[in-house]
Amino acid sequence: MTDAVLVLNAGSSSLKFAVYPHAEGEPTAILRGKIAGIATCPVFSASDATGQPLPQDARMPLPPDATHADLIPALLDWIQSHRGGVTLTAAGHRVVHGGRRQTGPARVSDALLEELDKLVPLAPLHQPHNLAAIRCVAASAPDLPQIACFDTSFHRTQDRLAQLFALPRALSDAGILRYGFHGLSYDYIASTLPAHLGTRAGGRVIAAHLGNGASMCAMKNRQSVATSMGFTALDGLMMGQRCGALDPGVVLYLMEEKHLSTAEVTHLLYSDSGLLGVSGLSNDMATLEASIAPEAREAIELFCFRAAAELAGLAAAIGGLDALIFTAGIGENSALVRRLICDRLNWMGITLDPNGNIRNARFISTAASAVDVLVIPTDEEGVIARATQDLTRG
Ligand code: AMP
Repeated sequence: MTDAVLVLNAGSSSLKFAVYPHAEGEPTAILRGKIAGIATCPVFSASDATGQPLPQDARMPLPPDATHADLIPALLDWIQSHRGGVTLTAAGHRVVHGGRRQTGPARVSDALLEELDKLVPLAPLHQPHNLAAIRCVAASAPDLPQIACFDTSFHRTQDRLAQLFALPRALSDAGILRYGFHGLSYDYIASTLPAHLGTRAGGRVIAAHLGNGASMCAMKNRQSVATSMGFTALDGLMMGQRCGALDPGVVLYLMEEKHLSTAEVTHLLYSDSGLLGVSGLSNDMATLEASIAPEAREAIELFCFRAAAELAGLAAAIGGLDALIFTAGIGENSALVRRLICDRLNWMGITLDPNGNIRNARFISTAASAVDVLVIPTDEEGVIARATQDLTRG
């Protein structure tokens, strides 16, 4: 029998999972998958340790109207009975918000869940689903230890100034602060820096997590000093469907003059903006790159203009820049986006090696570049697996 931990990342209509056998070194998944379209038309996909998709007859059966509450126990059963010889010893969850108190992964208890419930209004699109998944696992496997890993924890090393909005003190005291997100991704990137940069790993580094959600994190000594996302995952960079930083006056105008309701503004900012809103075509960078429409090109240009401007601001927070890391779907795969961003940063001494960039090589800057530029694939699930194993061992 192989002891393993289950990693779950639950969204509103999707459930991503991965199974990691206990191991001393780098965690390596023997199974990863996703159930998409939950409660409408669920679709199961999964791949084995080599990345090969599982054949049709090896997949988990899905009732068409199954909810998270039906699917989570079924998934636990399927993994243990159909993936031959796997015993799950713990479940680790991605939880988007840990508030001010959670500075690292934490074992789930009733008290912790109660504390995390209070943060639902701060992350209404993610937190309820993350917590519901924890409760579903607890209901179907009450003895299975569970660990919550927070996207906000990595940023709790920031100074007070980096976390403050210029709002009345009472609001800051009430928790209206810049929390930052994508912390599991930054945690992984920070852990890999010594292998790539040696002693320079502790220098001034900005990691750019550019995926459908996008943010940047400025680090020193591999700790977060400042980040582009704030109170919610709306702030900072332009994203697939989210607007990023926006004059708050626009929101007031939309509500006062255009009579949009709170729900309509929420939908506009979270789901109809970003690459999708500007291009009018798609939230998907690869699709926009393949398009000849001028609106697609304008959306890409704006994405890169905003990213370069945000990066320059974050560099000020750490007094310059020694290394820039690109990660996540766009950061790892789009040579065009990396080039357009770096071209705007030539004045900082950044020069890209076009051949390395086109190949998504690990180092994509020239030898003469004042800043090392790297592409490092992120591994948020691996971070959760490691933390889950560490906190439940013994
Ligand atoms: P993520 O949220 O990290 O999965 O990233 C999703 C984003 O990465 C989408 O906008 C994809 O279009 C983008 N992406 C993935 N592969 C490529 C590629 N080869 N070129 C450009 N964008 C890509």
